[in-house]
Formats: sequence, structure tokens, C-alpha cells
Amino acid sequence: MDRSKTSADRLAPLRRSDIPPAGANPLRRVSGTGAVLGAVLDHGPVARSTIARLTGLSPASVSGHCGALLDRGLVREGPETAGPRGLGRPFIPVEIDTSRFLVAGAHIAVPHVTLSLMDLTGRIVAQERRPHEGSEPGRVLARVAAGLPRLLAAHGSGRTALALGVATGHWVDPEAGTVVHHPQLGLRGVPVRDELAGATGVPVYLDSHSRALARAEQLFGDVGTRRSAVVLFVGNVVDAAFVTAGAVHQGPRFGAGNVAHLPVGTASAGACCTCGTAGCLQSEVSEPAMVRRAVERGLPVTRFAELLDLAVEGDPVAVELFRQRARLTGRAAAVLLDMFDPEVLVVVEPGTGRLPACMEELRAEVEARSLVCDDAARSVVPSSFTGSVLATAGAAVALGALHDDPLGPWPALAAVS
Ligand SMILES: [Zn+2]
Repeated sequence: MDRSKTSADRLAPLRRSDIPPAGANPLRRVSGTGAVLGAVLDHGPVARSTIARLTGLSPASVSGHCGALLDRGLVREGPETAGPRGLGRPFIPVEIDTSRFLVAGAHIAVPHVTLSLMDLTGRIVAQERRPHEGSEPGRVLARVAAGLPRLLAAHGSGRTALALGVATGHWVDPEAGTVVHHPQLGLRGVPVRDELAGATGVPVYLDSHSRALARAEQLFGDVGTRRSAVVLFVGNVVDAAFVTAGAVHQGPRFGAGNVAHLPVGTASAGACCTCGTAGCLQSEVSEPAMVRRAVERGLPVTRFAELLDLAVEGDPVAVELFRQRARLTGRAAAVLLDMFDPEVLVVVEPGTGRLPACMEELRAEVEARSLVCDDAARSVVPSSFTGSVLATAGAAVALGALHDDPLGPWPALAAVS
């Protein structure tokens, strides 16, 4: 990617001569090696002949890509396996090698940072949540840089971190590596990638948490190889990401997904939103709104996590607050389903992830309001990562970059001979 291009350049009308040949756009490219690595992730241990069928690549080409991935320690060979039902030639399957490398993740939320380590199959190896000590960006990033070596030493089992992925809410430019604007954290134009790369010494990749979770759902979640999906994230920040034609939508300004101000409530019912009106999705369902409602109803909570614990334990007032949140989220989900008609809409919200009654409530609201969706039980699903959403988001940015270009500039990997 030519990083000298400005936003204005990117927005200029496209001429035929500007259009790269198919597969040449680094943001969209799925290399042959990446396709093979993806097939091994999805189906390993798997025979090379099966990978050829899955990817449409020739057996010789698959053999070459597997060789490159073996040389780099990203895949390994399993024990020789008999052919199906004892027929056919025995084969040596390949699978993801989890013994050498990890990716690290940092999710920057409004109250805290979640650091994580993930193996190359997408399994979270360790995670650690640290409250911010002041929101000044330099201090937040310094704590990330200081925390990762400790986490790796304690839980890495001697493995090397290939890269650090960073995710946060609101508006993030993955190409420039900056947080463009995060109003709740007071971040504007913060060069997160370069600052953390300098402080940690590993390659750093940055993306919005909704796009990161959409990518994670593609790599090792329920979205898988589906061509279209919407991810709706409901936390302190409320936003969304879109998968279209099999790729996570980026947009020329990387600003898609702001659904915070979808009108879902009634002007008289909710507190005023930061935009000056009442009844916006964010002002109705965000974590601060939930805590405020809980306090109004006499629950002894000061933090969202305490309210969620009460609901999981069955406190009827807490449960009803989450059911209400599910209904309001369902209204937004119905709008998104009608706007995009995706194969699946993933709701990243802990109530619907952990309380089946809340997911039923949300799906009923979707079916009552959406024009296109009459099978919400199938097409509206909870996050595949309930319980480790934030740990997954950061690390998935790094793992997604590895899958986009496994033979790219990964300093920790041996060069392919
Ligand atoms: Zn608003």
C-alpha cells in the first residue's frame, strides 16, 4: 500500500488505468498462501489433495504453498494417515502449528485495556484486564507496551509473538495506523500503530473493534465463509461492521459503522444523547445507560459488570433491564437487516450471549419489525466469542493480517527459501 497517498487522493475519481489487476490490492488480496493457510485453519489436519479441492488451486501449487508455510513454522505435518475407509494412498496431513508462535492483542475500552495472547488457531491462551490510570494516550499505550512482555513471559510457554493487534471503538484508520476519533476516550489522530511498534519492537496492526470481530467471525467464528454479515457491537461504545462479498468493508475513510444514533427509544423515555436528542441506540443501551437505569431501580451496582453478574444470577430487576436492552437492540438489528440483508447478523452483547431469554426477546423484536427477516433464530446469532470478546478483538487484528499475507514482512518468521 502506498502510504504517501492522502485521503483526498483516495477519494479522487478512479480512472481505468488506476484499477489494479485482480488480487493486487493489498487490503483485499487473498494470496494463494493465505487461501491454503485458511483451509488448514478451517479443516486441519487436512490432506493436501483436500486443500486443492477446497481452494481450487492445483495440487502442485498447494504443495508449494504448504512448503512455504512449513518452512516458516506456521503449519506442521501430522502422523501419516490411512486413506478413506482404508482405500487410497496414505497421506501426511497438515495442521496449524501452535507450538512456535502466538499473536498478541490489546483492546482499548473506555474504562480499561484488555491484553491477550492467542495461538494461531484463534484460541485465547491468556488475557488480562487493566483499568486505565488516566486517559492520556501516552499513558494508555505505555501500559500496553509494558504489560505484554509480562503476559508473554507468564503464559507464552516460550513461544514468540509474531505481532500485536490493537482494536478500539469508534473511528479507526487501519491504513494510517491511527485512532481518528474516539470521543469517549478523548483520542483524536493518535498514531497508535507507530507508537506501539516503537515501544514493543513487534509489528503492530490496528483496526476498529467491530471490524476486528467481523474478521474473527470469518476466521474462526460462525460467519466463516459466508459472503455477507453484519456485526453489531453493544458495549460502552455502540457500533457495527459489515462483511460484503466475503470481505470486511473498509470504506475510503474507514468510518463506516456508526449506528450510535439510530432512533430506537422514545423521546420521553431515555436520557438525552450526546447528539442532543433522546432515544438514540447508544443513549438507550450503552453500559452507562444500563448502570444509570439499574441505580434508578435501586440495584446496588456501580459498574456494568456487577449488573451483568446480577442478571446471570437471576435477579429479576437486572434480568428485565437486559431484556429491555435486547428489545431495543433488536429494533436496531431489524433496521440493519433491512438495510443490508446479510446472511447473518452477529450481536456482540453479553446479555444476549449469556441469557437465552434475552436472545429470544431480541429475535422476536427483529421478526416483528424487519421486512426481510422472518427466520431470526437462524440469521441473528450471538457472538462466537462471548466471555472473551475483547481479548479476541485485539488479537484477531494481528491474526487477520497474518492470514491476509502469511509470507509478508513478519520479522519473527524465517524467510522462505
Ligand atoms: Zn444520539
